[in-house]
Amino acid sequence: MDAAEFRRHGKEMVDYVADYLENIEKRQVYPDVEPGYLRSLIPEEAPEEAESYEDVVKDIERVIMPGVTHWHSPYFYAYFPTANSFPAMLADMLCGAIGCIGFSWAASPACTELETVMLDWLGKMLKLPEDFLAGTEGRGGGVVQGTASEATLIALLAARSKIIKLIQADHPDRSETDIITKLVAYSSDQAHSSVERAGLIGGVRMKKIRTDKKFSVRGDALKKVLEEDRAAGLIPFFFCATLGTTPSCAFDCITELGPICNAEKIWMHIDAAYAGSAFICPEFRPLLNGVEFADSFNFNPHKWLLVNFDCSAMWVKKRSDIIGAFKMEPLYLKHDHQESGLVTDYRHWQIPLGRRFRSLKMWFVFRMYGLKGLQAYIRKGSNELNETLLKRINSARKIHLVPCQLAGKFVLRFAVCARTTESRHVQEAWCHISHLASELLQELPH
Ligand code: PLP
Repeated sequence: MDAAEFRRHGKEMVDYVADYLENIEKRQVYPDVEPGYLRSLIPEEAPEEAESYEDVVKDIERVIMPGVTHWHSPYFYAYFPTANSFPAMLADMLCGAIGCIGFSWAASPACTELETVMLDWLGKMLKLPEDFLAGTEGRGGGVVQGTASEATLIALLAARSKIIKLIQADHPDRSETDIITKLVAYSSDQAHSSVERAGLIGGVRMKKIRTDKKFSVRGDALKKVLEEDRAAGLIPFFFCATLGTTPSCAFDCITELGPICNAEKIWMHIDAAYAGSAFICPEFRPLLNGVEFADSFNFNPHKWLLVNFDCSAMWVKKRSDIIGAFKMEPLYLKHDHQESGLVTDYRHWQIPLGRRFRSLKMWFVFRMYGLKGLQAYIRKGSNELNETLLKRINSARKIHLVPCQLAGKFVLRFAVCARTTESRHVQEAWCHISHLASELLQELPH
């Protein structure tokens, strides 16, 4: 394919993508295929002779689409969302074209520098404490990891390396192996499986702390386990708090847990993979209070902030903790500016060496939506829509509600008032409200 053909087919592909997304709700959200369906639809071996682009494109609908689960269908309610926006897709095209492998500043200065600045922009949107920002003189900073799983693993490995150095500074005779066998990491019993997996990969014990009735880890629960483990000669070194758990979006109480971790010299990592995007709205930001006690914090803009996969934003308070844990310096990766203190070499912050220019899609999305646009996306349902819904509910005369204002939001209050109200009345009312809300939403222009 030459540049002229690329121009033509590129435009056709943009049309195909736009049609796909515009009409996605007409497709069945979950495919009918059985395991192995695809093998029978394509040859056993790669073609010897080149095929045409038209031949390949024809097979998208024949081979691929029948086996696609349409994550961006309005009927998709599984797992968590994965982000999708046109600005991010366009940025990904550019990323593919530049096609750099930005493992160090010198390997592509724009790739590194834009990432550092985008993580500062996003950190400021979340009102993260200054300590987490790189700025021009900060000791912290952010990085784009591929996934929250990688962020947790990196945090755990950095914490492991830090505690080993700390212990060996006082006891030079203690071997690394001996220390590792005593290390213990903790998470909520509601934490995502990737946290337990980080413990497995990191070769350390991982214990689950029992949550309370709201599925939240409280300070007392952690304290009790720490006391037992210290008494048994173990070395607690890492706690992964979850803000927005996978089963029920519960929040660990980091304002209680943080001070305990700090006092016990335990690295606190926060996994806010899904819920983190909401903290850009001032009314949700209080849920992040306590982040000031954390050593590292992570969430996935690729879940709920309109930046297509993969984009997992991770910040650390002391970047030297991470860089110090994984530093390798072969001659072929060195460059003239690396000791200047002015540049970041992200290869030290992650497991692979290679990395894509992922900050481009953040830059496109942040600029083309603006903070206000992103906040509106998180909030969705506007005040006007809620007001209209309330009018319809009350004019239908079946049930009666009054509204209130909470932090600038028009909220429909549902109070159970009468002595005679039973569960069936509430169920009926809920069906009625859902029905009116669906009608209203269907009338909206798409
Ligand atoms: N943490 C939480 C709370 C999650 O809900 C998820 C996935 O849904 C993950 C971690 C793993 O995310 P990733 O695919 O980015 O590793």
